[in-house]
Amino acid sequence: MREGQRGLCFVRARHGNSIVLTTYGRSSGFCVDPIEKKPLNHFFPGTAVLSFGTAGCNLACKFCQNWDISKSRETETLAASADPETIAVAACDSGCRSVAFTYNDPIIFHEYAIDTALACRESGIASVAVTAGYVEPAPRREFFAAMDAANIDLKAFNEKFYRKITGSRLGPVLDTLAYLQADTNVWFEITYLVIPGYNDSTRELEAMCGWLVDNLGPSVPLHFSAFHPDWKMRDIPPTPPATLTRARRLAREHGICHVYTGNVHDPAGGSTYCQSCGKLLIERDWYRLGAYNLGADGSCPDCGSICPGRFMEGPGNWGRRRMVVDMPGAFGAGPA
Ligand SMILES: [Zn+2]
Repeated sequence: MREGQRGLCFVRARHGNSIVLTTYGRSSGFCVDPIEKKPLNHFFPGTAVLSFGTAGCNLACKFCQNWDISKSRETETLAASADPETIAVAACDSGCRSVAFTYNDPIIFHEYAIDTALACRESGIASVAVTAGYVEPAPRREFFAAMDAANIDLKAFNEKFYRKITGSRLGPVLDTLAYLQADTNVWFEITYLVIPGYNDSTRELEAMCGWLVDNLGPSVPLHFSAFHPDWKMRDIPPTPPATLTRARRLAREHGICHVYTGNVHDPAGGSTYCQSCGKLLIERDWYRLGAYNLGADGSCPDCGSICPGRFMEGPGNWGRRRMVVDMPGAFGAGPA
């Protein structure tokens, strides 16, 4: 790159002989959401999470559902600014159990995400990464050492789709999944955005589920999420709910214990059931929790089986609210 030139991700640029992060401490805005919206269904259910992103992305998905942020070429998008300690304090003050790096991929704001996660950890706030997992091994280790939970977007199970539709590669994403399971204590769940005609064939879904069971075991929760037409793929119809239900059934038949549907109204596909006896453990309607039948250790009240995840005594009470948070602006007030 030439002096001052930015990469595909937009936020890293050449300054002298190094590549630097140009957006440290700047965010696209802060919001408190239910943790179920990340989505994480087995990580302190019902609690609030302080969410934020920056701008840019290291992928170039033609179906991006957050393209106003990820493809932003306007630094004005970065309206809010906050240093890591300010974010940790804001998370505590707003009653959040965790902070989420989301909307765009936190892999590209590595230093800022890690510093924020460490500041949060000192305050007893957990950190959640919502990421495509497309990262080299050395930064992967650094990054996830600071994280407590993650939702990894698995965008398809074929290299051609990754290359043509996302501008990235599948192999490193699978490496990230295997790494998280084998070498870390990070709690993680997987999201698969089902795009009609692109990644929803029975053959592809079966191959994906087979890989997950063989390489991660049956306990990693899997979310099949509905696509809505966006960015450069506005000609593709939204995912029919029946497609999600079919995918969920197929994954369960392959032995995956906890499979969810997302972005659709489907209480059965959004609730958590005991993997041993089938008892309803956590009832969900969109992001609102209903019945909650889990011990603090995640045990089923009927058979005692342990539901995998991170739980506490009872559910959180955040509900399905979304609340915008104004930051004091430790780096000076943002432009907006
Ligand atoms: Zn049970």
